[in-house]
Amino acid sequence: MPRTSLLEFDAAAFRAELEKRELPKFRVEQIRRWIFSRKAADFAVMTDLPISLRCELAEKFDIFCGTVVAHQKSHENAEDQSNKKCRQESNGGNSIDHTEKLLLEWHDGHRVECVLLRDNRNHRTACISTQVGCAMKCLFCASGLDGFVRNLTRGEIFEQILRLNQLLSDHERLTHLVIMGTGEPMLNLKPLLSALDDATAADSLDVSKRRVTISTVGIPRGIKQLADSDVMYRLAISLHAPNNVLRNKIVPQNQHVGISEILKAADYFFGKTGRRVTFEYILIDRVNDQPEHARELVQLLKHRTAIVNLIPFNPVTELPYRTPSPSAVRRFLQMLEQGGIDVKIRFKRGNGINAACGQLRRDFRKE
Ligand code: SAH
Repeated sequence: MPRTSLLEFDAAAFRAELEKRELPKFRVEQIRRWIFSRKAADFAVMTDLPISLRCELAEKFDIFCGTVVAHQKSHENAEDQSNKKCRQESNGGNSIDHTEKLLLEWHDGHRVECVLLRDNRNHRTACISTQVGCAMKCLFCASGLDGFVRNLTRGEIFEQILRLNQLLSDHERLTHLVIMGTGEPMLNLKPLLSALDDATAADSLDVSKRRVTISTVGIPRGIKQLADSDVMYRLAISLHAPNNVLRNKIVPQNQHVGISEILKAADYFFGKTGRRVTFEYILIDRVNDQPEHARELVQLLKHRTAIVNLIPFNPVTELPYRTPSPSAVRRFLQMLEQGGIDVKIRFKRGNGINAACGQLRRDFRKE
């Protein structure tokens, strides 16, 4: 029987659980510091705690819920040519790529991937998963290929952030969190928000709430719930198509919702929080990258205070789709700009280790 992981407790429950064992407050704070700031993976390293206490804790609890079963790094200058060309053409210019990917295994044997991204503006971003597998079945995404298994717990979500944080050197600190790994975050919102609460707490990793982005396929109920909570997180919506006919095909979840309901929820979010919503738009060669799609997208968004993030399709072996040429990406970008839309291209990271958007899975892909 696995012991309970301390990460399953939120800050109040963590303190209550240890204080109930008659630990004085300062000891509890020491333990929290060890886990969150000093990156301890084991009670044995907590050398300012009495040995008897370390042993007692180790008998009753685990720090982590799971184990790291694989760790991959992508190499500098390993970006593909199309990426480079596109970047030169659009003055993007974040050329370093020291992306790392972890595969974590939980007690029931299920696995998820999570990614640490670095850029040369000193941004250090953890990209984390919220579910084992995904039920959304977006046609272009690797994460749902093997179906949905289960929601991750609060501890399992928080653990991904801590494990990625452990990969940083002493000169680096985690600056951003993106909930863009495997799974649909709005369908597992409560554990996610609980984990983010801790990751953004001043006595924990202290990542700024404004630098946390939750990306959703577009679940209006979840978007409203997020808007109504008092947290300052950013919202990204995976729109990917400017009309329901096309969106129903490539994002099947749309059949139950429809674009207008999603936009209504996005407007509600903006009205309530004053934070601009990001609309993600994957560009797939000859599927949704044509001039008429750009025109329709401008019509949908031109009166909204929004940002569009274009994501050139990242290849997935089993799937028949292709990345558009750099000139097609540029044409789409320019049409949105001319339509008055604030638009950016999200460049691929994690070249060679399948760590980019839509490439994360329940397991490392067997080559
Ligand atoms: N379920 C959430 C988080 C998913 S991943 C959501 O749908 O937003 C983050 C982004 O990567 C989403 O916009 C997703 O649609 C996109 N994506 C999925 N597969 C992709 C691929 N092969 N290439 C590029 N982006 C992809």
